[in-house]
Amino acid sequence: MANFYPEQYLKTGIYPINHNYLPDQFSDLEQIWEKVREVVKRGDFTLGEAVDSFERDFARLNDGEFGIGVGSGTDALFLSLKALGVGEGDEVITTPYTFYATVGAIVTAGATPVFVDAGEDYNIDANLIERAITPKTKAIMPVHWSGNPCDMDAINTIAKQYGIHVVADACHAIGATYHSKGMAQLSDLTCFSMHPLKNLNVWGDGGVIVTNNASLADKLYSIRNHGLVDRDTCREFAYNSRLDTIQAVVAQHLLDKKIPNITRSRIANAKALDKGLQGINGVTLPPRSEHKHAVYHIYMAIFERRDALQAHLQKAGIDAKVHYPLPMHLQPAAKAYGYVRGDFPVTEHISDNCLSLPVHEFITSEEVAYMIEQVRQFYQGA
Ligand SMILES: *Cc1c(COP(=O)(O)O)cnc(C)c1O
Repeated sequence: MANFYPEQYLKTGIYPINHNYLPDQFSDLEQIWEKVREVVKRGDFTLGEAVDSFERDFARLNDGEFGIGVGSGTDALFLSLKALGVGEGDEVITTPYTFYATVGAIVTAGATPVFVDAGEDYNIDANLIERAITPKTKAIMPVHWSGNPCDMDAINTIAKQYGIHVVADACHAIGATYHSKGMAQLSDLTCFSMHPLKNLNVWGDGGVIVTNNASLADKLYSIRNHGLVDRDTCREFAYNSRLDTIQAVVAQHLLDKKIPNITRSRIANAKALDKGLQGINGVTLPPRSEHKHAVYHIYMAIFERRDALQAHLQKAGIDAKVHYPLPMHLQPAAKAYGYVRGDFPVTEHISDNCLSLPVHEFITSEEVAYMIEQVRQFYQGA
């Protein structure tokens, strides 16, 4: 088996309107180099000043008290489960409509994933959670898909009633709010990714856990760093998954200079796409809620004759993508859990019919109008 990522980057780069904008994102590279130089001069290559200040500022942005920088979004999810003592024999409820890492974190933590179907907003359907709870259920892992918050009031009510934890996969949802509360206010532990394709994107892998729970934070600061409480004292044997200090410098730069504009532009582009697409027969937009401030990591909708539309848009130079064609319960990796097609009809409908359009901050209003016009032409003809 070969690495496939570089090829994927090349493929997406051939479309004039694409999802890949990394060279533009870092056109102010020189400013970041200056700050990297300071790290090299100080020599604090692991943790250190840059990580401390970034963790503090990132937590604040998401309405939380403590930020714990870790190696990736996946590690954020995995370490969160470990910090809660989730392991062998436990069940964690999540959605089959997500990225592999959500389920991977549950499985590698030693627990069994228990899937609950998505709703029409593509997030876990809170109405279906209660019947999936068993005496083994230790946690619920909702995914704020595309940057749109889940129905956290309902989820937290259930969690409280049954005494189970909530670990949120907020990898798409940096800066999102729900009833004006930041993501960290809505679960025991909230996990973010800074992968190059996420809204706040560093030069490799990075993740952050945000929490308001001081004892969980204490545990996480330690277990991401060998279980150390100081240089010579190991409280428990644990992991090495620290946010890389150079990546913290990159992330701090984006946090200070760019994230407000990134978020604002994505929302503006999404609103313009909504406006243009909502009247077109063949397109079904997800419901939008006033009390949810979504940040549109992905802009997606359900489209009739999806595959033909995708081909039409690609021919028109638009990198229309499917996030993702095969849900988790139908993946080869899930075979042992015994799920079959038909188990999660809403999820399967989304996977079979969804398409995502580029929505990032370098998409211009002309490009938005062009995308809408291409979709209109597909359904209504020239
Ligand atoms: C990207 C992503 C992750 C994992 O993040 P990494 O930083 O790539 O490990 C987890 N969950 C979701 C929903 C994601 O999109």
